[in-house]
Amino acid sequence: MTATSDVQSPGSGTIYDPATGAIAGTVRWTDLDDVPRIAAGLRAAQREWEARGPQGRAKVLARFAVWLNDHRDEVEALLVRETGKSMVDAKVEIPLAILIISYVVKTMEKALAPDTRPAPMPMLSIKKITVHYRPRPVVGIIAPWNYPVANALMDAIGALAAGCAVLLKPSERTPLTAELLLRGWTDSGAPEVLALAQGAREVSEAVIDNADFIQFTGSTATGRKVMERAARRLTPVSLELGGKDPMIVLEDADVELAANAAVWGAMFNAGQTCVSVERVYVLEPAYDAFVEAVVKAVQNLKVGAGEGHHLGAQIDASQVDITERHVNEALAAGARALTGGKRPDGPGSFYPPTVLVDVDHSMACMTEETFGPTLPIMKVATVGDAVRLANDSPYGLSATVFSGDVKRAKDVALQLDCGAVNINDVLANLMCTTAPMGGWKASGIGARFGGADGMRKFCRQETVVEPRTSAGAGGNYYHNSMKALARMNTVLTKVSLIRSKRTAK
Ligand code: NAD
Repeated sequence: MTATSDVQSPGSGTIYDPATGAIAGTVRWTDLDDVPRIAAGLRAAQREWEARGPQGRAKVLARFAVWLNDHRDEVEALLVRETGKSMVDAKVEIPLAILIISYVVKTMEKALAPDTRPAPMPMLSIKKITVHYRPRPVVGIIAPWNYPVANALMDAIGALAAGCAVLLKPSERTPLTAELLLRGWTDSGAPEVLALAQGAREVSEAVIDNADFIQFTGSTATGRKVMERAARRLTPVSLELGGKDPMIVLEDADVELAANAAVWGAMFNAGQTCVSVERVYVLEPAYDAFVEAVVKAVQNLKVGAGEGHHLGAQIDASQVDITERHVNEALAAGARALTGGKRPDGPGSFYPPTVLVDVDHSMACMTEETFGPTLPIMKVATVGDAVRLANDSPYGLSATVFSGDVKRAKDVALQLDCGAVNINDVLANLMCTTAPMGGWKASGIGARFGGADGMRKFCRQETVVEPRTSAGAGGNYYHNSMKALARMNTVLTKVSLIRSKRTAK
């Protein structure tokens, strides 16, 4: 089995292709002492970046989108080498990045314009109240390895659009793609407001210690540590964490469509997607047909990296260990594997797509995040059981409901404790970047995307209260008599109370 990297700090490291064990490239790990210097450089460059305004920054972001499109082949080939992905999986990353940039470029001026707020009572209409969105100077982005382009850019684009500088700490398992993205940023004629810190935990901690906002994507266990570290300097965090996303298939669903969706949702990127379908609950009448269609679809899948395959390698042997443990424990406890179910010999960190039945919530495959190509399916008697079991999880990232009746599916969706639900489709919310993508419970804090919110989250709000007229100012200062101050307070209270009195009736 292969390791993907030999991280050490400082020094240089070698990254290995998880599919073949061949060298994918080398990286220079960032010296810990350099992180404050890099952050200071970004902080200095950020002022001019902010001063360009949304239109000036939009031009640069748009040029970067063009660069990404022009260099697709090079980026995708590197993605395959660095992660052992299939080419179809590698090919989703740049279109998503370009979609995000295009929407941001179109909307950023309006999203970042100051808001005018109404006076809370007529007496205060002498004031003009505006809320300004001022960028947090240095945003630290700490990313995982499963989508090296998307994980970096999904958040970096919003931060850069907002006028922040970004210090990106990619996963130590996939540092090479980040180097190529930085080259693209520079070649797009962009200023030095994007920089990399390459390394593992210690470098991450240095990023947290030197940034003004932390956008973390990764496991729940690490997310907790990130929040603790950030608390030392009261640095705000946004955490996109792990999941155990359920799919519910009602008895009136289009079973063929649901089965194909389940297979794609579970096996896409070899199951290494935060919002992958990790468990399925099927109403009894649809169960047999659903399982049969799933098995048929899985049997057609071709496993291998690069072109001509559906799903590629797992990122390394430790990830295969988790998948293997979940499957083996389930089999030992009475589950059956209808496909796969056994770790293959041979080179590369592969695991075959595995459909499990006769599973329940005493098994890790139904309760812990697997992040591998498994699809455990459970038969349920009622919709209530399906909802209860779907919610029986520490996680709450997203979910899927299949039904022939969209209204009924929506009713189920709104009983699920999670950040997003797709009806009669899987993973679709990822492309709907005008809506927030975030997790409930142990799946996260905050959200990414969400239109204007996806840029404003990287800003501090600064309220400016300015006079519309000089009349009225100073009425409550000490130089007035105590009687005048008391009168003022009485009037304020009376006027404010009018609405409460009316509503309370
Ligand atoms: P991970 O938590 O091991 O690592 C994530 C990042 O944190 C890496 O860059 C790593 O170097 C860094 N890190 C490690 N220890 C740290 C520490 N003590 N303090 C600060 N940073 C530290 O996660 P992973 O294995 O790279 O990624 C897989 C996980 O990411 C899965 O749980 C998956 O569900 C989750 N994920 C979530 C989303 C989402 O949007 N919710 C998206 C992709 C992946």
